[in-house]
Amino acid sequence: MTISENVASVLAQVADAETQTGHKTTVIGVTKYVEADQARALVAAGITHIAENRTELFLDKQKKLSDLPITWHLIGTLQRRKVKDVINRVDYFHALDSIKLAQEIDKRANHVIKCFLQVNVSGEASKHGFSPDDLADVLPIIANLSQVEIVGLMTMAPIDASEAELVEIFDKTKRLQLEIASQGLPHILCTELSMGMSQDYQQAILHGATFVRIGSKFFK
Ligand SMILES: *Cc1c(COP(=O)(O)O)cnc(C)c1O
Repeated sequence: MTISENVASVLAQVADAETQTGHKTTVIGVTKYVEADQARALVAAGITHIAENRTELFLDKQKKLSDLPITWHLIGTLQRRKVKDVINRVDYFHALDSIKLAQEIDKRANHVIKCFLQVNVSGEASKHGFSPDDLADVLPIIANLSQVEIVGLMTMAPIDASEAELVEIFDKTKRLQLEIASQGLPHILCTELSMGMSQDYQQAILHGATFVRIGSKFFK
């Protein structure tokens, strides 16, 4: 299948899921596997939100596609020492996973940076992110950082998760998002949910995702 055929098929499934839920979902194209020319084809096919998971790849793609009207997402773990190189070029950062990282972003940002708190609701040891129990301590500290805006929560389900586990993870993340939003803390609107990838995006949308991050499905 061509990239544009894959885009058409994903967008049709997303539209179908949107009809069922009654909420809008933004499709983010993850281009970490491909060169800039394929990312360009993805944008031409209608995906204008683009994500990379590593600083170097992010900066490289952004430079090569600087003529295109793209909303840029950084979705992977960000090392503190790299924050200054990249953070002011990012429209959304999806992997805020420590207080120290939030403080570094606040220090280096020259405008308010839209961030997702990464939460590890599956408890999988290999996954980054705050455990739900950490959040009560973490939120008041982050609420004090004027350049960090928490737009929502991001989570990743284990690749081998069963259907039932997926649903549990998505639902738990959604409940957490609503609970945080209801606190009304400064700079923590927390209205969005970044969850769902190539394998599970339809489920994720049905369970509340407002952003899905899709890579491999576009490029095969
Ligand atoms: C690679 C990646 C994705 C996309 O994964 P696919 O399974 O290829 O759709 C989504 N989120 C993050 C954080 C990633 O690193």
